[in-house]
Amino acid sequence: MMNYTPMLNRCQEHPNLWIFDHPVIQDKLTRIRNQETPHREFRRLLNEIAGLMFFQLSRNFDYVEVPVETPLERTTGVRLDSPMTLVPILRAGVGMTEGIMAMMPDARVGHIGVYRDEKTKQPVPYYCKLPKDIADGPVLLIDPMLATGGSASYAAQVLSSEYGCQELQMVCLVVAPEGIKKMREDHPMLEIYAASLDRCLDENGYILPGLGDAGDRIFGTQ
Ligand code: URA
Repeated sequence: MMNYTPMLNRCQEHPNLWIFDHPVIQDKLTRIRNQETPHREFRRLLNEIAGLMFFQLSRNFDYVEVPVETPLERTTGVRLDSPMTLVPILRAGVGMTEGIMAMMPDARVGHIGVYRDEKTKQPVPYYCKLPKDIADGPVLLIDPMLATGGSASYAAQVLSSEYGCQELQMVCLVVAPEGIKKMREDHPMLEIYAASLDRCLDENGYILPGLGDAGDRIFGTQ
């Protein structure tokens, strides 16, 4: 008999984290980690994983029943109810957005740009463009790498406190324990979805074993 295990599991150590341990996602993640993978392939795999993750995490989205005329008769179907907004954190978040848009072409896309000041280690915002009514529907914050959590926490703060977003979730590829802990302290209600909880950060803030600088690997700027 087939052995069924769910594709998505809540992490025991970090209850704000859900891990996708589906073998197709894990296979793609392994290819992404490989330093030999060129940026075109890296980008394709990252978008494929993002689409697969989105398909699962959107399973509880609200929908309304709508009539539909088939060539043969009238029947009832469904339509997703509220305007969803994707918010990639610049720049690596952009590398997962197309894969989700392929599933959800009507989604709106806001952007938040924030970098970490090397001296103060504090997040420095430099760009923010979001729909005014973003809080009217589900919002998905996107960043493939959750390292220290500084940028993600800042972005979540903007969305929840300044824009009033209640239905906020975050999707990543790889997370570090340090980032997950910070997010839980700063945003205890925010659920985070990822393909892997990695071991730790190195002295430069890179995730180990990780995959290097995601932005550079997506855009070929190493
Ligand atoms: N950002 C990256 O792109 N990679 C890391 O390992 C950590 C942060």
